Amino acid sequence: MTSRYSVFSLLRNALSYHENWPQAWQNKEPKPRYDVVIVGGGGHGLATAYYLAKNHGITNVAVVERGWLGGGNTGRNTTIVRSNYLWDQSAALYEHALKLWEGLSQDLNYNVMFSQRGVLNLAHSQHDLREVSRRINANRLNGVDSEFLTPAQVQEMVPIMDLRAKGRYPVLGASLQRRGGTARHDAVAWGYARAADALGVDIIQECPVNGFRRENGRITGVETGKGFIEAGKVGVVTAGHSSVMAEMAGFRLPVQSLPLQALVSEPVKPVIDTVVMSGAVHAYVSQSDKGELVIGAGVDSYIGYGQRGSMPVTEETLAAICELFPLFRRMRMLRQWGGIVDVCPDASPILSKTPVEGLYFNCGWGTGGFKATPGSGWVFAHTIAQDEPHALNAAFSIDRFRSGFLIDEHGAAAVAH
Ligand SMILES: Cc1cc2nc3c(=O)[nH]c(=O)nc-3n(C[C@H](O)[C@H](O)[C@H](O)COP(=O)(O)OP(=O)(O)OC[C@H]3O[C@@H](n4cnc5c(N)ncnc54)[C@H](O)[C@@H]3O)c2cc1C
Repeated sequence: MTSRYSVFSLLRNALSYHENWPQAWQNKEPKPRYDVVIVGGGGHGLATAYYLAKNHGITNVAVVERGWLGGGNTGRNTTIVRSNYLWDQSAALYEHALKLWEGLSQDLNYNVMFSQRGVLNLAHSQHDLREVSRRINANRLNGVDSEFLTPAQVQEMVPIMDLRAKGRYPVLGASLQRRGGTARHDAVAWGYARAADALGVDIIQECPVNGFRRENGRITGVETGKGFIEAGKVGVVTAGHSSVMAEMAGFRLPVQSLPLQALVSEPVKPVIDTVVMSGAVHAYVSQSDKGELVIGAGVDSYIGYGQRGSMPVTEETLAAICELFPLFRRMRMLRQWGGIVDVCPDASPILSKTPVEGLYFNCGWGTGGFKATPGSGWVFAHTIAQDEPHALNAAFSIDRFRSGFLIDEHGAAAVAH
């Protein structure tokens, strides 16, 4: 049983020079059988396991991860959290997630460093202004906080921004979601892992799933690098590798795997205390607690699995950032990396039953699934436990690509975050 983190445990451990902290979670070897196996130890997979145990009392669960926890997109993203999506179904799902974020550190007894510093979406043209206004109105109708800022209000909030931006990207206004912000991505994976482990979930790392076993159209288990694991149900949450997993299970997903990259600067003193994004110029920036500028871009325009991203995208993004923030021109970039994001044709996720009985997929979050982590785990756990979708994810089934009831969030997904 994991002990609770508190000021008392901090004091107690200080007396023994912090040498006796218990392991946050145990790294288990697989048992022969589980009620549920979750494939993929990113934030969404770990959250699913946690809510299976917490909300549904299903604790004979394994999370099977081919690498290390959070080593996929969970540990590679730029950590922006918001819920200002256009359509009713998305607003409801992302807002549910945002409400969970607001109490997540307490719920998990783990500081996920959720910081509601606000998220600004800039408008650079009359078209952008109309789009921004439309989304603000739609958000408000759905009870999602959203407001319009004039250029003067934007300048007041972000004094270092050049609103004229050399005339190329003049800022004509912005939308602001004050409850949006950032969180610490690793902490989300670790916090869910620790809380799930405390409820009896087995966390198995360095254990790739290489195939599925089926009998009479029903899943019976997974073939892994550590042998066969029998399973009553299997939930697949493998982001950029989802279409590969679907192929192993014998069906196709409408998902493309694309490299998405981010980069951070050398650390500097606090200069920007909110998140600024521009869909039109494909760039966004925030500042981490360490002082690094966290900069993100759009996806590469080719399918691939190399976790790098290409140079032209970096160049274009930095050019846009430098025009908006001339102050940043002489800063040096420290690290650049990429992740493989799983993009659906309508830029909305899939949380769904599949043609194989007992096999469920959670994918298609594309460039913006970090913000949804708690909500996604919550509704996916419900879908697996009840064998039917939660009201919040009913619209996000694979069947929408047959019925045509697509949820087009290209505008809100915008600059890939
Ligand atoms: C550069 C970048 C910036 C981003 N910025 C943001 C942002 O600011 N805000 C936001 O909301 N979202 C952002 N995203 C998107 C976000 O990171 C993802 O949507 C989200 O983290 C997906 O979480 P996940 O748990 O589904 O996937 P992952 O964290 O990728 O987890 C999937 C796991 O499955 C494992 N796996 C794969 N195949 C197998 C197998 N065969 N067997 C076992 N395990 C397997 C992988 O190793 C991986 O650990 C960004 C993504 C990137 C790449």
